[in-house]
Amino acid sequence: MVTGESVDTGPTQPDVAVVGGGPIGWAIAWRCATRGLRVVVHDPAPGSGASQVAAGMLAPVAEAYFGERELTGLLTESASRWPGFAAELTEATGVDIGYRTEGTLMVGLTADDLAEARRLWAYQQGLGLPVTPLRPSQLREREPALAPRVRGGALAATDHQVDPRRLVPALRLAAERAGAVLVAEPVRRLSEITAGVTVVAAGCGAAALTGLPVRPVKGQVLRLRAPDGAPPGFRHVIRGYADGEHVYLVPREGGEVVVGATVEERSDLEVSAGAVLRLLRAAVDLLPEIAEYDLVETTAGLRPGTPDNAPILGPLPGHPGVLVAAGHHRHGIVLTPVTADLITDLVTGGGGPEPLLAPFRPDRFDDLPGGVGVTATSSTFQPVTEVDTWN
Ligand SMILES: Cc1cc2nc3c(=O)[nH]c(=O)nc-3n(C[C@H](O)[C@H](O)[C@H](O)COP(=O)(O)OP(=O)(O)OC[C@H]3O[C@@H](n4cnc5c(N)ncnc54)[C@H](O)[C@@H]3O)c2cc1C
Repeated sequence: MVTGESVDTGPTQPDVAVVGGGPIGWAIAWRCATRGLRVVVHDPAPGSGASQVAAGMLAPVAEAYFGERELTGLLTESASRWPGFAAELTEATGVDIGYRTEGTLMVGLTADDLAEARRLWAYQQGLGLPVTPLRPSQLREREPALAPRVRGGALAATDHQVDPRRLVPALRLAAERAGAVLVAEPVRRLSEITAGVTVVAAGCGAAALTGLPVRPVKGQVLRLRAPDGAPPGFRHVIRGYADGEHVYLVPREGGEVVVGATVEERSDLEVSAGAVLRLLRAAVDLLPEIAEYDLVETTAGLRPGTPDNAPILGPLPGHPGVLVAAGHHRHGIVLTPVTADLITDLVTGGGGPEPLLAPFRPDRFDDLPGGVGVTATSSTFQPVTEVDTWN
């Protein structure tokens, strides 16, 4: 029936072993289990990776950057799957995952900030993405709490948000209800696993398991709370430039506001006074009222970054039966639905060759200087072609 080198045909062997219980791993486990596959998820601390810190912006438009066209295409595709994905997950679990569709306001504080923002908006509009410039009066009609100094902005109406701290437990619940089983231990080597197919979805942990160039990119984040249990005084996600600092503010139903984030090439989880100062100053410059909010949490997380900022999706060269779904960098939450669907199709052999996956194959790094890519051999990945149920 299947795939890997060390296939044990015993009755308890899973069809699919997923390494990593973050949003990517649990979503793949859920999708595979609902197709009737026997799924095991290996993770000593599920949900403790980057998703624990992430803001949960679903922002293919605001995050469409110069030189990342293929990634923008994948982000847009995944964002278009989010409404159905969220509805299905809520129906499967009854969990409110904090999915909100008010849209995102992108703003500039000073004339220089606005000039920089406009350059990006023009690029995004050139790609056909829905960016609507707004005059200051129109901005304030939408969000009266914005500082009077804010010079201008634009609306990305289709950029939404979800709460990752609700999403990951919901995905786990859905996967477990569909029959997936957690093994709460780390995987140190892929050869430890006996399963039809192994999916490496271990975020930053994917590098040690696969040799692929996934590196930690530190992000510091603050969590604030509006006083007296009130909801935040604004409803859109606000992303802006404030005196050259880039900052975002994500309001949640329950009164929380996530303010982020630094982008640092380091792998510690310390929170620095300077980062808190810069983030708060930029955030208060855009929305003065948050100076009155409680500062309830300061944290840092490690984004699983890659050389081209795009995820690594597909068969691991030289390792029959192993798929990779890692390196989602700043976009793992928005990319959860499309990653789960595409990887599940690969596992089951459904859907044929998928053009969406081609730019994100693991073997694209083979030619990097220093040989950071894995040793390429022809991919011998074979899908699971027979499905048993596992109760
Ligand atoms: C500050 C910050 C803000 C962010 N904001 C956003 C945002 O607004 N929108 C967005 O889309 N994305 C955002 N992200 C990115 C997003 O959080 C990640 O891309 C996403 O969490 C990746 O999901 P993952 O499941 O691949 O990895 P993770 O969430 O990191 O989970 C990896 C899991 O693998 C497990 N693991 C690791 N190694 C092993 C091993 N050897 N064996 C077993 N298990 C292992 C870990 O315990 C962990 O549970 C943000 C990230 C940060 C840090």
